[in-house]
Amino acid sequence: MNIRYLGTGAAEGFPAVFCNCESCRKARLDLQKELRTRSQVLIDGKLLVDFPPDSYLHALRFGVDLSAAEALLVTHSHTDHFYAQEFVNRGYKFASGIRSRTLDIYGNAEVLAVFGEDTRREMRVQVRENIRLHECKPFQRFEAAGYEVFTLPAVHTPKEEALLYCIRRDKTLLYLNDTGFPQEELFRFLRENDIRADLVSMDGTFADDPTPHSNRHMDFSDNVRLRETLFSYGIADKNTRFIVTHFTHNSVPFRDRIGAVAAGYGFLAAYDGLEIEI
Ligand SMILES: [Zn+2]
Ligand SMILES: [Zn+2]
Ligand SMILES: [Zn+2]
Repeated sequence: MNIRYLGTGAAEGFPAVFCNCESCRKARLDLQKELRTRSQVLIDGKLLVDFPPDSYLHALRFGVDLSAAEALLVTHSHTDHFYAQEFVNRGYKFASGIRSRTLDIYGNAEVLAVFGEDTRREMRVQVRENIRLHECKPFQRFEAAGYEVFTLPAVHTPKEEALLYCIRRDKTLLYLNDTGFPQEELFRFLRENDIRADLVSMDGTFADDPTPHSNRHMDFSDNVRLRETLFSYGIADKNTRFIVTHFTHNSVPFRDRIGAVAAGYGFLAAYDGLEIEI
């Protein structure tokens, strides 16, 4: 399983879209290295997790053919994870030679509502008919693009049932953002389904920032506790790799700095363009 991190920033990006803090100003001096666009991963070139406004930039920056994506798993409707407007360009006179004729989009009820609202003005019938929407709830299992997918509940917002995903085919990826520390039922469900993760990708939004933070995201100490909990349930073991991602500009997420701090915890800090083979 090939996993490409196309974006590893939080909602505002790094440097943040309207920000002139010291970190953001410094990051602008070396964007090739420090840029963290909004979070998205691509699995084996055909399964996307999330579709931020930067998806177009990801295609340009990393030479990705977004038309080859057969399925898209959306975690939740926040704009940094789902920019539905872009899908009006997936066909008609705006795209030809699309590699996967259909695109299956999986998301919660709010994600599907956002798709309807945001594409209402410009979506053409010829484009819309090749996009299939699937409403998901936590604790479901289905097949998407040839992968076995389990939906998991995030701890993120009371306004919708934000989802996390377990993606399995030969190898198993646990994709755990956006979320605070998960509730026990998530661990029980994974154990009941005999999930053993080869790679755990965690919400590390706050990194090593010691100031108190909301429980909608995690910091590295939460990530340590999460790793311990996954071990105790037998969902992860000594061969499991742990990645942290989705960094806010407030966590000073310069690639070398955050990489070194994360390594101290036994984590690999994701960066835009990181490619992992499991
Ligand atoms: Zn986010
Ligand atoms: Zn900033
Ligand atoms: Zn969010």
